[in-house]
Amino acid sequence: MDAQQLLLLAVPAAFIAFGLGWLAARVDIKHLIEGSKSLPRSYFRGLNFLLNEQPDRAIDSFIEAVQGDPETVELHFTLGAMFRRRGETERAIRIHQSLLDRADLAQADRDKALLELGRDFLKAGMFDRAEDAFQKLRGSSVEAEALRDLLDIFEIEKEWVKAIDCARELEMRAGADMTGRIAHYHCELAQFAIMQSRFDEAGREISAAFAAMRHSVRAGILAGELALAAGDVEDAIAAWAALGRQNPHHVALVAEKLMAAYKRLGRDDDGLRMLEGSLAQSASYDVLVIVARETLAREGADAAFALLLRELRRSPTLIGLEQLVQARFAQMPADLAGELDIVKTLLHHQTRRLSRYVCTRCGFKSSRHHWHCPGCRNWDSYPPRRAEELDITS
Ligand SMILES: [Zn+2]
Repeated sequence: MDAQQLLLLAVPAAFIAFGLGWLAARVDIKHLIEGSKSLPRSYFRGLNFLLNEQPDRAIDSFIEAVQGDPETVELHFTLGAMFRRRGETERAIRIHQSLLDRADLAQADRDKALLELGRDFLKAGMFDRAEDAFQKLRGSSVEAEALRDLLDIFEIEKEWVKAIDCARELEMRAGADMTGRIAHYHCELAQFAIMQSRFDEAGREISAAFAAMRHSVRAGILAGELALAAGDVEDAIAAWAALGRQNPHHVALVAEKLMAAYKRLGRDDDGLRMLEGSLAQSASYDVLVIVARETLAREGADAAFALLLRELRRSPTLIGLEQLVQARFAQMPADLAGELDIVKTLLHHQTRRLSRYVCTRCGFKSSRHHWHCPGCRNWDSYPPRRAEELDITS
């Protein structure tokens, strides 16, 4: 087939495609016109106000429209969600409240309107009114969603006992796996009790955390802190060492505490040997920093430098290099160290970013490890490793 024949076939095909498109458009327009005839005039007035950026007058018209035509209920949900997303919670509240004021609203729509109203209150920071709305939805068609929103309120208000009850209810009614969260809520209570020197209560909460989640890392850390607060240093070491046997990465979270506890017993060498063993199992910046510091204090600068060099070869990172450079600078004559200070400064600018912890859900970076992300409010989304270590692993 030559180019001329191809052209002869292609031209009619293009006309057919254009014709079909035109027909389809005609059908759509006809359908639209027929549909619009059934909509109340106030609906179009509302759209017009919305387009002219007069949202309050638009809401008045839409409220009028929904009184005359129940078909516009979905439109109200869409508008309400849009206003809330834009932070215009007063307008969202008006829309959802107007739906609830309708006597003939179907039960499923009434439940949904109350749920949305509760979310408007939540977004506006009116927690009491939000909680009241969600509590009223127990046993409704949107109960599971309402319970999740209630749980958000309890977390924000740090009402951990209520959060535990609510999470258990979600497990029962919606089949959700809340074990990790429940363990954290008990840990929050335990942490507060330790701060208040209420050790028996702290012990009970830690046991409850373990009961909810057998290998809870946070409960293991707190078990060590409770033992230490009660003066049982050996028990504290045992609790933290157990975390390392569970997963060597966890040692990074307790390395400093472990070394301090060994020192309290005058067993510095045992502490250093334990951390060296952990480092040999799994490269870790946090463990390396402590092992290097202790080696420097015990065996001097050459030994610390040799250790850092060996670890850097094994796991090359800029944050590790900074430690090595600092160790080398400490050995240099003051005038030479002064001249090369710019190297240290530049390196530090880079490592400050790389040494932060990162939320694997939302990417929120923080200089300290979090159990509950301040950005996306997920639990357990921070691995116990620095950003650069994670980059290398991934
Ligand atoms: Zn996050």
